[in-house]
Amino acid sequence: MKKNVRSPLVYYPKTINELLALYKSMPDSTLFAGGTGLLSTRSAKYPDFPGNIIYLRRIEELSAIRRSEGYLEIGACARLNRVLGIGEHVLKPALFNAIKAIGTMEIRNLATIGGNICSPYRVKSLFPLLMLLDTRFELRKQGSSRWVTPRKFLSQEEGRKPGEVLTRIRIPFNNFNHQSYIVTGDLKSDYSSALTFCCLASVQKENLTGLRFSAGFGNNGIFRARDFEETLLGRKLPVYGLTADPLFSRLTTALKTRKDEISSFQRVQIEGLFLSFIHQLNDTL
Ligand SMILES: Cc1cc2nc3c(=O)[nH]c(=O)nc-3n(C[C@H](O)[C@H](O)[C@H](O)COP(=O)(O)OP(=O)(O)OC[C@H]3O[C@@H](n4cnc5c(N)ncnc54)[C@H](O)[C@@H]3O)c2cc1C
Repeated sequence: MKKNVRSPLVYYPKTINELLALYKSMPDSTLFAGGTGLLSTRSAKYPDFPGNIIYLRRIEELSAIRRSEGYLEIGACARLNRVLGIGEHVLKPALFNAIKAIGTMEIRNLATIGGNICSPYRVKSLFPLLMLLDTRFELRKQGSSRWVTPRKFLSQEEGRKPGEVLTRIRIPFNNFNHQSYIVTGDLKSDYSSALTFCCLASVQKENLTGLRFSAGFGNNGIFRARDFEETLLGRKLPVYGLTADPLFSRLTTALKTRKDEISSFQRVQIEGLFLSFIHQLNDTL
């Protein structure tokens, strides 16, 4: 222990109610899940934490994973490798690959999905995809609970409020039969220049019946062009010469309106990754 500095006390609640009561009485405590985010940002030999520490991983309900007819519900403290253990056939390729791209096997053995979503330190690489999947987050504090979309969660007005704990992540099952999740750059070290690209499509009888795509940046910005997605719906595959199509300018314009956050290199990357996804769809015919 450092001289004249009190070591933080560590609390081990066993139920969500105990946790919410503790957090209410000590709102400046640090919620500690897997610790990979918390500890990777502290270089001191004895990391300093504000207030006391509330350890979340002894709360069984917080690690539960349930499947219902319509969705997968993952407790915030489920470890990433445990989530991967559900299998690619249930998670579907994009989510499976997105989780697998986080850290290393050792990190994913400790890191939790809730810690990833709440982490204020690093790029939140799951967010662009969770948005496309219509995910909802349950936020609870003593006496109240609410479900929010990833976009609201990231907003200042509607995001996580003091005293709130992320308890569950609900991901509806989807019918996108073509999925892609790609990371360019190095998420593990130079995450500020990394880009995550997700694209989901439904193809039925050679028709594009569903299409969603998004990209995430190192500064936690997320790009989505719904207008452009909609213009492509109902198209018959194969789709060739998309860049010459006036509709493609909707994507280019949408990217240019975010020129303060998205570099010209990233713009080219996003257009290229999108076009290569469409080529892959053409090739499946
Ligand atoms: C080498 C390395 C590589 C990494 N690569 C990636 C990557 O590719 N992509 C990526 O997104 N992240 C990455 N990370 C960051 C981090 O490890 C992960 O985001 C991880 O999932 C965090 O989970 P955790 O359980 O360890 O969180 P913790 O470190 O325990 O907590 C992180 C933050 O979330 C808060 N918190 C945790 N659980 C809750 C909860 N239920 N409710 C409210 N607040 C909560 C904590 O108070 C803390 O502020 C990497 C980290 C390292 C060390």
